[in-house]
Amino acid sequence: MTLLLAPPPLSRLHAPTLTTLPAAIAANVDRVRSVTAARIMAVVKADGYGHGAVAVARAAVAAGAEWLGVTDAADAAELREAGLDVPILAWLNPAGVDAAQVARDRVDLAVGSVEELRQLVADAVAPVRVHLHMDTGMSRGGCPVGEWDELLRVARAAGPLIEVVGVMGHLPRADEADARANAASVLRMRQARDAVLRAGFGPLLVHLAATAGTLTDPSTHFDLVRVGAGLVGIDPSETVQLRGASRLTASVVHSSLVRAGTAVGYGGTYATRHETHLSVIGVGYADGIPRELSEGAGVEIGGSRHPIVGRVSMDQIVVDTGARSFPRGTIATVFGPEGAAVPSVQEWARWAGTIPHTIVTGIGPRVQRSRA
Ligand SMILES: *Cc1c(COP(=O)(O)O)cnc(C)c1O
Repeated sequence: MTLLLAPPPLSRLHAPTLTTLPAAIAANVDRVRSVTAARIMAVVKADGYGHGAVAVARAAVAAGAEWLGVTDAADAAELREAGLDVPILAWLNPAGVDAAQVARDRVDLAVGSVEELRQLVADAVAPVRVHLHMDTGMSRGGCPVGEWDELLRVARAAGPLIEVVGVMGHLPRADEADARANAASVLRMRQARDAVLRAGFGPLLVHLAATAGTLTDPSTHFDLVRVGAGLVGIDPSETVQLRGASRLTASVVHSSLVRAGTAVGYGGTYATRHETHLSVIGVGYADGIPRELSEGAGVEIGGSRHPIVGRVSMDQIVVDTGARSFPRGTIATVFGPEGAAVPSVQEWARWAGTIPHTIVTGIGPRVQRSRA
């Protein structure tokens, strides 16, 4: 007789998970509203700064944002499909747009060059709502001041196919939190608005500020502020404490007690100084953990912060938990809004020598997404 043994049950570990926190997004929208009378556009480009474009958009609109801003018309289509109904502006469509789709999805387009506008006129199948994007000092996007006249001439010549409903700029130095750094851009914005009005367009929605300008300089607000980083808790000016809108968690996948002098990770760049417990966490640079980290980087396990030791691997990091041992399956918090033992996104940015934006937008595709 053959004895068939059932295989032991497999323990399913908590996969690396990024949890988006809609209540934090709502609180950040409230904070923005407390500093401006302008309308709020929730910018959800790059998949809502890694937090999920639809999740961030829903939370922001529920909290009172009246517009959505995205990179291109395809992003806008995703939001429409999810049932979001507020006006949407898409500002970067370098390869042109599918005019029928733009009309169907009711997408406003920002246009920042004469060539782009000519292309749009040629492609348009129905009147397109356009925001003229003027260069207010970035030399990155927007129509250079020397070409405004031509841009306005082409817009006028297009007749009813091009409906100019807005004029936008972008601030290159708002994170300095000093109104003097924005003054030239604000002046340029007013000149752009006046030129567009003189060309016979209007009424216009005028917009210049992103998060930093919104939080630090009312002279940049005009009719609408475009807030992206601020929604997810990042203030580029570092003047306002916003609420982190995500939590990244992963599991302890292996634990061990090692002797003093034990080399850890590729290259053996770190050796334990005394007998200690190591926990391997199942998250690595393929998930967005920066590979170059300064001393002091750590994660929260069991209510305390523990340092990351040795090199960051593709799928794993090693944490020195000292006298404490954590069983396989224990959940580690890589970052989150709680503070104290839980690292913030801002701390990760400092450890990696970067800005918080690259931490949140760098979370890899295999990290599960969930909503609190
Ligand atoms: C990204 C972006 C924003 C939002 O900037 P934040 O600093 O993230 O608020 C606003 N406007 C434009 C044109 C952008 O590209």
